[in-house]
Amino acid sequence: MPLTSLIIDGFKSFADKTIIDFTKGITGIVGPNGSGKSNITEAIRWVMGEGSAKSLRGRNMKDIIFAGSATRKPLNRAQVTMIFDNKNRELDFPADQVVVSRRILASGDNDYQINNQSVRLRDVRALFMDSGISQNSLAIISQGRVDQILNSQAKERRGIFEEAAGVLHFKQQKQQAQGQ
Ligand code: ATP
Ligand code: MG
Repeated sequence: MPLTSLIIDGFKSFADKTIIDFTKGITGIVGPNGSGKSNITEAIRWVMGEGSAKSLRGRNMKDIIFAGSATRKPLNRAQVTMIFDNKNRELDFPADQVVVSRRILASGDNDYQINNQSVRLRDVRALFMDSGISQNSLAIISQGRVDQILNSQAKERRGIFEEAAGVLHFKQQKQQAQGQ
């Protein structure tokens, strides 16, 4: 399920709408310190449902909105969109193209969309859960995460492997069923 494009608009240092198109193969992002490389991976984790402002290096989720610079006024909303080629149905969604989007307003209001339909966070999580790329999986490894994984307790490490193997979804469904 190739990621074809990432659109970052108002997220952290990306004050202008920025479209990153991914072609076949490996994409490398290079740039000087502070130019926004980590912000790109954080934008990906955020649109996939990241709930911890701290893990996005902020205090409050609203901190991810462009906060202004010497020459530009702060913005009052941020939006990140990921576009997937889903022709081979690797995402469990009945469309050839899947567009996942998250938006936050300065008020803190936050919403998600899949193919222009409003959805809940749990729908976004469910979409990515079995794909092995959900925001906690080993597909996205941020600075410091390797140490964290190596130093984690056995139970936490097992959870990471379960998610990567695609069994976590079934465990969560079982827990939900048992709780009902
Ligand atoms: P390094 O090579 O040091 O890892 P990097 O390319 O990964 O750098 P980032 O950490 O992605 O850089 O970007 C940091 C920049 O993003 C800083 O200049 C910071 O001021 C800016 N930034 C972070 N949050 C916001 C925000 N809400 N509004 C405006 N700018 C922001
Ligand atoms: Mg960085």
